Order: sequence, then structure tokens, then C-alpha cells
Amino acid sequence: MTRIASVLLPMPLPEAFDYAEPEGLGLEVGDQVAAPLGPRLMRGVVVGIRDGVGGNRPLKPIERKLDEPRLPPGSIEFVQWAARYAVDFPGQPLAIALRGARAPKPKPVKVVRTTGAEPARPTLARSKVLQAAAGADLSPADLARAAGVSSGVVKGLIDEGVLALHEIEAVARFDEPDLSRPGSRLSDSQAAAADVLKEMLQAGGFQVALLDGVTGSGKTEVYLEAAAAALAEDPTAQVLVLLPEIALTQAVIGRVAARFGVQPGEWHSDVAPPARRRVWEAVAGGRCRIVVGARSALFLPFTNLRLIVVDEEHDGSFKQEEGFIYQARDLAVVRGKIEGSCVLLASATPSLETLRNAEQGRYRWLRLSSRHGIAQLPEIQLVDLRATPPETGRWLSPPLVRAMAETLERGEQTLLFLNRRGYAPLVLCKACGERMTAPDTDSWLVEHRYSGRLVCHLTGFSMPKPERCPHCSAKDSLVSIGPGVERVEEEARALFPDARVAVFSSDTVFDAREARRLVEAMAEGQIDILVATQAAAKGHNFPKLTLVGVVDADLGLRGGDLRAAERTYQLLAQATGRAGRRDRPGRALLQTYAPEHSVMQALQAQDRDAFVAAEMEERLFAKLPPFGRLAAVIASGADPGQLDAFMRQMAEAAPNAEGVEVYGPADAPLSLVRGRRRKRFLVRADRGVDLSAYMTTWRARVKPPASVRLAIDIDPYSF
Ligand code: ADP
Repeated sequence: MTRIASVLLPMPLPEAFDYAEPEGLGLEVGDQVAAPLGPRLMRGVVVGIRDGVGGNRPLKPIERKLDEPRLPPGSIEFVQWAARYAVDFPGQPLAIALRGARAPKPKPVKVVRTTGAEPARPTLARSKVLQAAAGADLSPADLARAAGVSSGVVKGLIDEGVLALHEIEAVARFDEPDLSRPGSRLSDSQAAAADVLKEMLQAGGFQVALLDGVTGSGKTEVYLEAAAAALAEDPTAQVLVLLPEIALTQAVIGRVAARFGVQPGEWHSDVAPPARRRVWEAVAGGRCRIVVGARSALFLPFTNLRLIVVDEEHDGSFKQEEGFIYQARDLAVVRGKIEGSCVLLASATPSLETLRNAEQGRYRWLRLSSRHGIAQLPEIQLVDLRATPPETGRWLSPPLVRAMAETLERGEQTLLFLNRRGYAPLVLCKACGERMTAPDTDSWLVEHRYSGRLVCHLTGFSMPKPERCPHCSAKDSLVSIGPGVERVEEEARALFPDARVAVFSSDTVFDAREARRLVEAMAEGQIDILVATQAAAKGHNFPKLTLVGVVDADLGLRGGDLRAAERTYQLLAQATGRAGRRDRPGRALLQTYAPEHSVMQALQAQDRDAFVAAEMEERLFAKLPPFGRLAAVIASGADPGQLDAFMRQMAEAAPNAEGVEVYGPADAPLSLVRGRRRKRFLVRADRGVDLSAYMTTWRARVKPPASVRLAIDIDPYSF
């Protein structure tokens, strides 16, 4: 009897394939193997083994077992669960789970070892080197440093043959966290929250808690304390901290390092492939015990995950919108369930979904209602732009400019928040009225002055700003409409020529190092006015930042999205929450044309509960999340006729089910992207309905033509 291995490949294939196990390979579930697929050899993971004979045709044998870490059972179960949930092929989440395993190995490193030969001239320096070299495998430079001698001494010993260079594979070194270090002295309310978390960890098993604390209340300190407890509980325990932005991972990595005296594993798209591999292997080997990362860190091969922290859990960046579509906050709860770990969701403005779970008692609800120490929440003032408009062609109103002048005078910092990259969101021709749009996408081109280009923020398409209108050929007729961060920066410089002004957006800060540099410069007071998109508006602690000016508070409220109010509230509460986080009182000015809007009123009154109650009522009435569930089907195609025909076919194939309504087809919110038309169905279901199962059935009934791409989005972020 042969053994049959079922192998999942990291590709969009509907299922795992069966292969014969060659004699004596001794495969186990989780092993990485090379298996033939057509003419090619592919890396895959064994997800099942059974005895048996193949069907009619003999099975192809597995080529070989790879000398790579095994994927732990929890990872495999998670990948399969995630695929079922997202109504996608299991190879898609597997590809994310193997991202580190498939990265190139780090280059081998040169280390020095003793050869056994005696030095011709023994000196004190030389004996120090020999002592330090014993069993240490250090590079020549590190050895010299360890022995406290110059590098010439080491080189001399190598030349003499007393030491020899060896090339070895670089193994990731993740030192053990130092758990004897004391954390901050917690306030009573922090300590109470930390105690509950410690109890939960001690009890073991899957549990979820919401750490609901106003900005600056010290949530990070609380979860570091919980992390310490989790790590102390068990010498192999692992902790994962998920954050929505790379800029935020940098700040938290610093705090973890300060708390535990070791660098945590760092995981996000900006980590270089060899470093990614180091972290992946160390996590699989249980050597890396703390990981700080962005959403895909959830797919790392943890072997004993005790605590998952999702910081800023409300943040939309936890939703992965392309490729494999998933909500990392929700999947964190799933992974926690599979691993039997504690999951801690932290936020000052939790999502309505999470608040509902807390209200219903499904999650433990831990509240921190005041800022740490003597820091107070900022005073929030609405600036009615109808009453006090900025000068023509300017964006900062007189009250905000006055507040900035006062802040500068006191030697304090201002954050101007505008969630819009570039110089101007729209360029139009004043001769013919033509709006500059991307050639193949229905979105405006955004003017970027630094690069002198017009850029499509959806697809990345860009072109130099033309001298003549492409439509009517008028010369110098193109005007920039509306503000982006670059334009606000220009205005701030013009108003305060002596102030040090910087911009923080994904155009000026493209990697983790630059983000860290700017955050440090801000923290050290080397910047007076920071103009920032949301990339810098959340999570950070800048002691001298006392004024936050929101340039366009209404920005997120436009458009028909039903989550707009919630999102705007969260974003602005976060942004204004940057002010006055230490001993100096802070204030925030919100420029708005709609001061009477419920979001603005709630922000000014700092009355989150009232806002949440009102918003919950509307959702309840419409049976929308968290009182119902949503999914979207998005189909795109370059041929509108074929796309429409397919959408009609889909509409007919929609299963009838109790408590499910299907709306559409209609144009998707972005109806043309890269030359492809996009159409969408929206599906609403009652809470008890297994929406993934419904979508799976529906999908199985249709077969899109080759020209049509179909994507299913469970719990779409915009609706
Ligand atoms: P949050 O995550 O809730 O926004 P943080 O954990 O960043 O808040 O804390 C806000 C500020 O207060 C930080 O500068 C932090 O170092 C400080 N802080 C919080 N708790 C303590 C504590 N127990 N002792 C000393 N400083 C604290």
C-alpha cells in the first residue's frame, strides 16, 4: 500500500492535489515539498496523508521533501478556514502564509574560529581575542569589539593561522525577552485592566477582550504588561501585535524593545526578503517570541501563540482589498480560536462590530476613561467655514491661523491633518472646463508639485502636467482645484516663513526608515508644523504637539458610503487625539461647512457614546452591520457586453435563501479601473445566515468567461 499525500500549492487552484509518497520519505502534515504540476516543480505543503491506492491513473510522486520548517497544524487550519470564509481558493492564503518561506535565504556570513594553533607572540590583546572567540562564531569586526581590541589584532591572528574564517549560514538570532525588567508603574485603571488580561491568560483558552481607552490613556502600556504575563506563563509562548500602518509598527517596536530589551520580529511589506525569511524561520522554530507587524503577520507559522493584540482595531487598513480579500481584525479572532489564545482588540474608537460584541458580553470590555497622568483630552472647537472662510485661494481659516501663531510662539507644535496626498485633487481647464482624468480609470488625476506630475491614486498611472489643455489646446489654462497636503504645506510656509514645516504622507515617506526619522524629528521638537495624511495622524505620542488643525473635516462624509460617519468620527477622534498628550494642554480646531452634523457635534462634545448609540440605531433600522451581514460581488471586464451578459447570468443564478437579499447589478463605486468596467452585487443577510456558504453556492453555479474577473468581498469595508 502506498501513502497518498494531499498537497496544497500556493496558487489559485480550487483544491489540494493528491500525490504518491515515494518509499521512505516519511512525510508528515505540514511538510514543505517540491511536487510536479504539469512540466514544473512547485513548492507546496502537505495538508493530509492517507493510505490507499490512487484512482484509475497512477498518481504522480512527490519529487522531494524540502529541508524547510514544517507549517504547524494551526497555520494549516487557519489557511483553510480563511479560504472558506473569504470564498476564495485555499492556495491564496497559503501564498501569504509562505511569503517568508519563499523569500531568498540571507547570504552566508563569515565568522572566525580558532584553529588550535598557538600564537607565535602571545600578548594580552591576543589572549583576549582567543578567549572571546571560543565557541562564539562572531564576524571579525564583532570579535574585535567583543574583545575590546582593534581589528588589526584579529587580522594578525588570521594571517598567522591561529584563527580561520568560515562561511556559515546566517541563523536568525532573536534573543529571549528579558522578563525581569519592570514595566511602567500602572495607574489604578491600567492595573485593573492588566489584571483582567492576566487572569484571562492564566485561565488559558480562547477569549477576546476589548481594551477601550481614550487616546493617550496608556493602552500600549497595558498590553505590554499582558504580553509580559503571556511570555512569563510559558517559555515557548509567543505574542503577536498587529498594527494598521508601517509607521506605527516602528513606534511600537521601539516600545517593545525598551520593555523587553530585545528586538521583536518585524513583519510588513517593507521588510527586505532575507530579513523576512529570518523572521519566518524563527517564528516557525519558536525562537522568535514577539512579533510586531502589519496584517499579514497573522499568517506567520506560530507554534504557541498565546496572545494576539490588534491595536487600533477599528482601522480600515486592516482590510486587505486586493488579491486575497480579508479583514485582519476578524481573522485575528479566528486565529485566536484555532490556537486557543487570548485576543485583545484595542482602540479609542472601536468599530461598531466590536462594540456590539462587547455590549452583548461576547468580548470582555475593559475601559480606560481618562488620559494617563495629568494629560487632559484636547479641547475641540468647530470652525464654521461659512462664517470665517479662509482668504481666496487659501485653505487655513483665520481662527486656525491665529491658533497656529500662538502655538508657535509658545514653542509648541502643530499638526495639520488633511487626508489627501499631493498638491491638488483636481486639475481643470478654465478655458473649456475639461477635468483631467486618467485615460483608463474614472478618477481625477491628482496634481503632485514635488514631482511635477499628475497621478492616478488608484492605479499609479502618472504623466507630466501638460502645458496645454489636452482637450482644447489652450495654453496655461489648467488650474489646480482644492487642497492636498503639499498645498497646505506651501500655505503654512508662506504664513510662517521661520517655522520648520514638514509633510508626512506616503509620497514623502515611502519606507519604514524615513517614517522613523520623521517621527523622531517630530518627537524631538525639530519640526514646528507637520502637515500629515492619516499615515501620521494616529497612534503617535508627540510631547510638544498641542494643536491639531483638521483642514477639511467634511472630507470623509461626502460620497454615499454608509460607513462614512463611523469612519470620519474614528479618523478625526484619532487625529485630534494627538494634541496635548503630556503635561501641556491641547486643542483641536475642525474646519467644517457642516458644524451641525452629528459627527461634528459628537466630536466637539467628546461624546462617543451618544454618537455610537445614534449610529447603532440607524444600522439596526437598516439591518446593516453589526445587525446584519454584507458581502459584495465585484466583476470586471474590458468588454462591457460580455460583462453585462455575465452579470445577468449571475442575477438569475442567485440562490433563494431566507434572510438574504441581493441588490444589483449596479456600477461598482469605481466603475472603470485600468480599462476594465466594474459591476457589483451587494448581498445583505441576517446575522444567523452563513454568508460564506451562500456565496460559495452562488459562485459554483456560474462560470465567468475568460474575459471577466470575479471577486467576492465578505464584509466590505465600504457599503
Ligand atoms: P494609548 O495607546 O492609549 O494612546 P499610550 O500607551 O501611548 O496610550 O500612552 C500615552 C502616553 O502616556 C505615552 O507617552 C506613555 O508612555 C505614557 N504612559 C502611559 N501609561 C504610563 C504609565 N503607567 N507610566 C508612565 N507613563 C505612561
